[in-house]
Amino acid sequence: MRLSYSALDSFQNCSLKYKFQNIDKVKEPKSKEAVFGTLVHGTLKFIHTPSLLPPKLEDALDYFSRNWNSDVFEDELEERNAFSMGVAMIQQYYKKNDISDANIVDLESRFAIEITNPKDGASHIISGIIDRIDKTEDGYEIIDYKTTKKMPSQDKVDNDLQLSVYLNAFLARYPKEIERLDKVTVSLYYLKHGVKLSSTRTLEQLNTAKQLFLDVIAEIEKGVFVPNVTPLCDWCGYQKMCPMWKHKFKETRKIDSEEVNRAIEDYINLKSAITSTKTQLAELQEKINDYMAQEGVDRVFSNEGIIAQTLRKTYKYDEQQLREILEPLDKWESVLKVDGIALKKIMGTISPTARQNIENAKVIDKETKSLTVKKK
Ligand code: SF4
Repeated sequence: MRLSYSALDSFQNCSLKYKFQNIDKVKEPKSKEAVFGTLVHGTLKFIHTPSLLPPKLEDALDYFSRNWNSDVFEDELEERNAFSMGVAMIQQYYKKNDISDANIVDLESRFAIEITNPKDGASHIISGIIDRIDKTEDGYEIIDYKTTKKMPSQDKVDNDLQLSVYLNAFLARYPKEIERLDKVTVSLYYLKHGVKLSSTRTLEQLNTAKQLFLDVIAEIEKGVFVPNVTPLCDWCGYQKMCPMWKHKFKETRKIDSEEVNRAIEDYINLKSAITSTKTQLAELQEKINDYMAQEGVDRVFSNEGIIAQTLRKTYKYDEQQLREILEPLDKWESVLKVDGIALKKIMGTISPTARQNIENAKVIDKETKSLTVKKK
């Protein structure tokens, strides 16, 4: 299989988006966020393209505004906010970096590397573009620019698959550097915050990344593509086709079925009434409990009825004792079951390979449909 890194990333974030893009081959209408990101990347390329005199801040801002595309924004306010954000990113970039001092080896560097599955010998190709490769004092730095607002934790950067894939691609071009891996830095540069998060990789981590890539290929080959609603949906150009979003864009949505419309509105209102009733009930309960404690009574009377206080106990068992009783009866194994919450808690403490193996061991237990409400 041939796969671009962005396709792999799409699949990991939302397999349905991957399907639209790579299987159905529906050209993705550019979202405003994607257009914005492309222009900021283009401006950084303009800033660092070798020239006699590196562009000044005014030149970079001029490039940015000349290539600005107003068409993708819904209104003037939205456009103004995005434009100011871009300007602020570039200004900050100049403030924090000495443009003439950068020792850049390559910009928007294209790669295609082959990864072979040791199990079946099948070869796959992953391609992509590395934003920037720098020569540092004693090694290299691979940089990927990000225009998103949210920054990841250092732990996520240390295990970021994209950076590992980029480093594998870099090593395919500079194989000798494998002996000096600690001198090759991989960085995510968050332009909005002007912060660069850096990391390095061990050979083991790079091999893990290859295995993760093979695992993703195996998942894709299963052919199951489901929507996954996350903040990244804001960047997705397929919202109008996606079952999780397309109703929002249905022009006749307000009039096509009065009955359904009313049911949706009533459901939303009832749900929010239930939430506020629950809060009220908790407050009243606290007051009544306090009153009962003060009066030393377990029941209170009013014209409306009687409220009784009952003590409900929940129990847990001593595991050792239970085991000693059940094991001789050959029943211990039948009461053991995997605790999903406990499993989630240990996930951050185990190796990426073990994490991936656990993910692979996941099977659907049961499926139920429920409605969740996000009130405007
Ligand atoms: S809108 Fe969100 S859920 Fe739908 S395809 Fe795009 S990323 Fe997936």
